[in-house]
Amino acid sequence: MGIHEGKSALITGAAGGIGRAAAEIFAREGARVAVADRNLPGALESIARIEAAGGEGIAIEVDVSDEESVAAMMARCIAEFGRLDCAFNNAGISGRQHAFHEVPLSHWQQTLDVNLTGVFLCLKHELAQMVQQEVVDGARGALVNTSSGAGIVPAPGQPDYTAAKHGVVGITKNVAQEYAEQKIRCNSVLPGTTDTPMLDASMKRAEPGYRSFVERVSVGGVLTQAEEVGEAAVWLCSQQARRVSGQSLVVDGGGVFH
Ligand code: NAD
Repeated sequence: MGIHEGKSALITGAAGGIGRAAAEIFAREGARVAVADRNLPGALESIARIEAAGGEGIAIEVDVSDEESVAAMMARCIAEFGRLDCAFNNAGISGRQHAFHEVPLSHWQQTLDVNLTGVFLCLKHELAQMVQQEVVDGARGALVNTSSGAGIVPAPGQPDYTAAKHGVVGITKNVAQEYAEQKIRCNSVLPGTTDTPMLDASMKRAEPGYRSFVERVSVGGVLTQAEEVGEAAVWLCSQQARRVSGQSLVVDGGGVFH
């Protein structure tokens, strides 16, 4: 029996990368999953993979930076599953690098809108649902947000990304503090450089040879894999982590210390 048998889980940014990997693991562990992304064809492909492996789920188109869209996503989840046990707020973007004094305001704003306001909006609507739910297996719900190594150390040339990911670590603690007595936990995962479509896109923007540089500086000469981050998020949402809340779990093989 899986660790999420009979539960429901919502995963944003699950049309690929870390979110898709997490959705597949949630489903393997017995959860019915809602795969939410602004990329609907990608979300449908994630669901097709989940169903082919014997899991169950639905795809939802969402823009996490838009409150109406987030509210509609939650309404669809509840219509489908009746309650929400787990949510992994993972959707995010990463853009060009700039010297700090040359960051366009529009670029700063866009990153904050998706990577921080998006997490805030998802948490807000997930919590509104979770506080009304009955306690099941000792919990009303469990939340995990995707921050980044840039939630601890700055991402070079990306003060917008650094600010958003530090912000995610901060609001995770707010939720943990405020909702502990209501049996709702909230943690964040902080992936190191992870082999996903986001990384491929940043490689295309970078100088030739950047990928081999990044691999060389990653622990063991290998990049973090999306499944490794997904496993951490799925565990943090589980009853096995029932006493863990407000924490920032770095998933990078220890690279942050190098
Ligand atoms: P990815 O690009 O493969 O996945 C991100 C997903 O988010 C995409 O499917 C995209 O369509 C979706 N998305 C983007 N904006 C959205 C919006 N407004 N509404 C809904 N969905 C939206 O990248 P990934 O590497 O899997 O990234 C997942 C998370 O991990 C992000 O929050 C990212 O910042 C974080 N992260 C990634 C790395 C890395 O090296 N890949 C490292 C640290 C943190």
